[in-house]
Amino acid sequence: MVFSDELKTRRLILVVDDQEINRDLMEMFLSDEYDLLFAENGRQAMELICAHQEMLSIVLLDLMMPVMDGFQVLAAVHEDEALRRIPIIVLTAERSAELRALQMGAADFITKPFDMHEIILARVARIIELSEGRTIIQTAERDALTGLYTGNFFFQYAERFARYHPDCEMDAVVLNIERFHLVNDLYGRDFGDRVLALIGAAIQEQTSETGAIGCRMEADQFCIYIRHSEDYQELLNALQSRLAPVSGNTRIRLRTGVCAKLEGVHDLRGQFDKAKIACDMLRGNYSRNLMYYDMELHHKEVFSEGLVNDIHRAVEQRQFQVYFQPKYAIQGTRPVLRSAEALIRWKHPEYGMISPGAFVPLFEQNGLIQTVDEFVWAETARQIAAWKAEYGFTLPVSVNLSRVDLYDPLLEEKLLDLVERNGLTTHELKLEVTESAYTDDPEQLVARVERLRNLGFEIEMDDFGSGYSSLNMISTLPIDVLKMDMKFIQNVKKGNEKDFRLIELILDIADYLHVPVVAEGVETAEQCEMLRQAGCSLVQGYYFSRPVPPAEFALLIAKEQNERKLEGST
Ligand code: C2E
Ligand code: CA
Ligand code: CA
Repeated sequence: MVFSDELKTRRLILVVDDQEINRDLMEMFLSDEYDLLFAENGRQAMELICAHQEMLSIVLLDLMMPVMDGFQVLAAVHEDEALRRIPIIVLTAERSAELRALQMGAADFITKPFDMHEIILARVARIIELSEGRTIIQTAERDALTGLYTGNFFFQYAERFARYHPDCEMDAVVLNIERFHLVNDLYGRDFGDRVLALIGAAIQEQTSETGAIGCRMEADQFCIYIRHSEDYQELLNALQSRLAPVSGNTRIRLRTGVCAKLEGVHDLRGQFDKAKIACDMLRGNYSRNLMYYDMELHHKEVFSEGLVNDIHRAVEQRQFQVYFQPKYAIQGTRPVLRSAEALIRWKHPEYGMISPGAFVPLFEQNGLIQTVDEFVWAETARQIAAWKAEYGFTLPVSVNLSRVDLYDPLLEEKLLDLVERNGLTTHELKLEVTESAYTDDPEQLVARVERLRNLGFEIEMDDFGSGYSSLNMISTLPIDVLKMDMKFIQNVKKGNEKDFRLIELILDIADYLHVPVVAEGVETAEQCEMLRQAGCSLVQGYYFSRPVPPAEFALLIAKEQNERKLEGST
């Protein structure tokens, strides 16, 4: 039978070592089962490898040799398309050389002085098996775009290294490009690919210098398995500087998460996940590009997990409350209460009052925010109707929409239902959509928001100027009100012309779009007066009131009602 013949074929092994005693030992260990070739240095080895390339099953390669050393052989074999398939096991006494060899494509190690011969036989057999099964899927080993390992192979190699080097302290490093999707959107996929290839090359270069393994995990996420280091800023700077030629005014920024001193081979992927968590924490942070996964982050993660588990009970037990913050029109003779924003609050039985900053982004990631948002909308609609009945005039309130909400096919139906059930019109419930919500899928989301607008809902663009949209995009967005991000007002220091000019610029843009501006985060009388003089229509901020519970907010409405009565009677 063809199969059994094939199985019986003796494999051919090349043993390369300058020490005769080592060649003899290998002959003793292997000659019963394999045919053997021998070389005394790298040059001889290359000649034999080229001559027998079709037949060679494996090369056992010493690293330290005269004439041409093992690293040079590794490099030469690796560079050659045809030779690359031949697996190489490195024979070495020096542990520090192993990672570098692995990085250069070595499949495994045999340490000197030689292990028990059963171990050597087993290792050789396993690598041959692996390589024969693997020739078919070899193209999957490296990522075509960057030349780095692909995820699966990366973990295979890293795990193997960890197993053989239990004493070596290693770190997991994860790199990401800040808002890479925007790079693709603005400059095209080809440009995006060029950026990724450059980073791949830079990582390749850095890792071969330091003896590490790199891979591209997916999209713009890169991983490096590397010997522990106290400082990664230098590595990060080196990678970042390689991007300078293409970066130009597009400012492509890398961010990095590190999980240091990995705990052995167990759950290597989990430890890279931790580095990724650290890396993700840096999203949108322009003052830092390096973060470690430490106890503080660990506690945050545990805390977050806890919150996710608690949400359904929180809804049942009414731990969520809606607070309201007023928006005042400031251009008249007195500030006039015009509308409000509904903001979620969570009174947690264990942690006390949790700010939405701690749970909204978390719930946005896993979609739970929809549950919270729908609760807020329902409460708000009910409240608007109650106040309308009590005070005789409508105070429109805006609610926040998350990106997840915008993908809900029932969104219009749900909002219309709320409006109708409470006897309101769509003009009385306003919707805030943050600028960044549009970035991933602008066309579809714009169409979605436009539909809401056609139903009569007014759209306030939240956090405007926080940097997500380009100017030419803004003119295509459905907007009725522009909410200026609070950092603008908070940046204005006394006498700083530039910061003030930015605010004027935003007011000009709003003018051009024929929409009013709400300035958020206004805390002082001076800020309010400055905005009034600049022509800003509406103000929301601690200066007028913090977000407050409904009963307290009712006092503000009552006050407004009184003012109007007085004005009516004079
Ligand atoms: P946002 O929509 O930009 O809301 C404005 C935030 O600014 C609120 O923070 C408000 O309390 C705060 N703020 C108002 N005036 C001032 C001021 O003068 N100075 C300062 N320093 N801050 C001021 P809050 O309530 O902590 O909410 C934070 C963010 O959480 C909100 O930002 C919004 O993105 C999100 N969020 C809040 N409630 C909801 C909700 O019901 N649904 C969704 N999806 N997100 C919500
Ligand atoms: Ca808002
Ligand atoms: Ca805002």
